[in-house]
This record gives sequence, C-alpha cells and structure tokens, in this order.
Amino acid sequence: MVITKTLNSEHRKIFVTTIMAHSLFILFSCVASLAAAHGDHHDYHDHDHHEHSNSLDAPSDCGGAGLPNDVDPLAVMFKEAPLTPEQRRLASHTSPQPIRIKMQFDLVDDVNDLYTCTKVDQTVNPCQGRWSTNSCSNKICSELDVVTDAKRGIAKKRMTWAANYVSNTFKVIRPRTTKINSKSYSLSSGYDNYIMNDVIDEADVDLVIRGTVRKHENNYVAGFAGCMASGADSRCILGYFNFCPRIFDVKTTNSPDVMEKERRTAVHEILHVLGAVKLSSFLNGGYLAESETTWQVKTNPKLGKKVVHVRTPNVLKVWREQTGCTKDNDNGPTLEDIPMGVGSHWEARQTGKYLKRRRSTKCS
Ligand SMILES: [Zn+2]
Repeated sequence: MVITKTLNSEHRKIFVTTIMAHSLFILFSCVASLAAAHGDHHDYHDHDHHEHSNSLDAPSDCGGAGLPNDVDPLAVMFKEAPLTPEQRRLASHTSPQPIRIKMQFDLVDDVNDLYTCTKVDQTVNPCQGRWSTNSCSNKICSELDVVTDAKRGIAKKRMTWAANYVSNTFKVIRPRTTKINSKSYSLSSGYDNYIMNDVIDEADVDLVIRGTVRKHENNYVAGFAGCMASGADSRCILGYFNFCPRIFDVKTTNSPDVMEKERRTAVHEILHVLGAVKLSSFLNGGYLAESETTWQVKTNPKLGKKVVHVRTPNVLKVWREQTGCTKDNDNGPTLEDIPMGVGSHWEARQTGKYLKRRRSTKCS
C-alpha cells in the first residue's frame, strides 16, 4: 500500500491537525513498511487499548458551528463526492487503488448482543466479549455504559468517517483475493464473539471491520481494535473495532473538539487493524527476531531504562528523513512503554502529542 494525496491541501491541513502524532507516525511508518504487508494477528495481546480523557466530567451544551445537532459540520463543508467501490475498480485494475474498507455494524445494531450494555444493571463479561475463550469478573452496566440509539448512531458515524478517511489515505497495490467467508485462513476461536455466526458481507471490499460498542472493564479505555485474519499477501482482510460507549456524550457530540477527538480515536483504531504499530507487522509479517535490521533493546543512559528501537530499513529511512536524526546520534524510533497499549504505539516522548511539535530529545 502507498499513501496517496487524494485530499486537497485544505482537507489535508484540517485532517492532519486532527490526528495525534503517534497516529501520524503510524501512517508514515505504514508507508515505509507497506510494500511488505501486515502479519496475522491471532494473539490476545494484539488487542490494543486507547486511553481517553474526554470531557465527560465537564459536559457542555455548546454545539459545533451553530449547526443543528444532527448535522455533521464536516459533512456540510466538504462537497467532494467519494467514489463508490465499483467506480474505483473501474478506474484501473492495475494501478494502486484506495483500500476499500467496510465497517459492519451487525453487532452494533444487535440489541440482544450479550456483550453490549443495553440497560442499567445488566451484567456483562467484558473479557469474554473481547476474547471468547477468556473471562473476567462480570461487570454491571451503568447509565454511561448503556448503548442508546443515540450512542449507537454516533459510534457508527465516527467509525464510518474514519473508515472513509483511511480509505482515502491508503492505496493497495492488489485488491483482496482471499475469501473472508471461506475459512481458508485459520481464525482463532478467541474471535468468535466478534463474528457471532454472522455471514460476513465481503463483496467489493479489501477489508471488513466488525464494529462493536461493548463495555470494557477499564472505564478509561476508549476503544480497541486489531486484525483477525490476513489475506494471501498478509494484509489484514478482517478486523474488529470496539468503541467503548462511555466515550460518547450525546449532548456534546457535535462540538468540534468532541468530534475531533472521537474521529482521531477512530482513525487510530483502524490503523491498528491495519497493523500499526506492531513489530510483527514489519517486513512481511510473522515474528521478527531481534537483530540490527529488525528491532533492538538498548539501554538509554539518559532515561536509565531499556527501550525498544525499531530498525527495519524503511522505518529507519522515513524516521531519519523526518527528524534529521542520523546513525551517529540515533538508534531508530522507539516503541511506547506505558502499560496501556504497550509496544503498539510510537513513543510519545519522541513523536510528541502532535507530530509537528517535535521535541529536542527526538533522537534516541
Ligand atoms: Zn492505540
């Protein structure tokens, strides 16, 4: 896959400022590594958690840009009509095409889903909803956890927006050839509760993502996502993406800062579906042994601890182009080591909250 410039400069300016630095760098690193494809993710630890610190504590009725509550300002502002999957395919069968991503909402819409809170005091087992062969103590749904029609609508809107954004940002060299419903890959039974015996509508898409809005046992988790199965060329073809219902405040949903945060989280999670930033996703997938040209653990004397440097050739190239770091003062970008999402994000110390704000300590 390659990054594309299908968005005009104004779009890009707006969108780029909405994405957190590590997401941005994920994008760039994907570019670096996507000639290779992403590996299979059949491991519980591929679940990634994205922390949120939203404005639930300080709810506001301030809407966005004076528009009615049910109007998405960006939908009004941008007139560029997206191509349908068929139109994209007709454009060319041989040149890279936007990755066709379909969010599937069967489980979001299923009011009987066992792992979705639909009423106060309902009991759910979040761990089993996330990984069917696991379980933790049951949790009681509170009002914040309950997925109302309004929350369901917001979740779907944000997921759809993010899927379109990613689709307009990345191209695939080849369309998907592996059939999703054929079971030609081995899907771990741990993912059963993302499928729930549904037949997956795989027509005309490269990647299907099963959406859910299930409660997480940790109230500070905003969402998590990963890849369930990869196709013949190791690119993800079936993923999952859960938005935790607590993140949504229906009163402030059209406030620009709320939209920005939720969209950023949604793009972030879809990038995890595509393989960012997992060591196993670099260089044609599979487990990568530590080496000079894969990754290395080194002690950072300034920090007084060990850090993981990613050193695949394309990552080093892009990193050094972007930062000006050289092999004389830098060992390659490092992975995040805070507990939530450990090892699956770029280190914020280096990339900053937003990529533009590079820190003086960028070189490792
Ligand atoms: Zn994440």
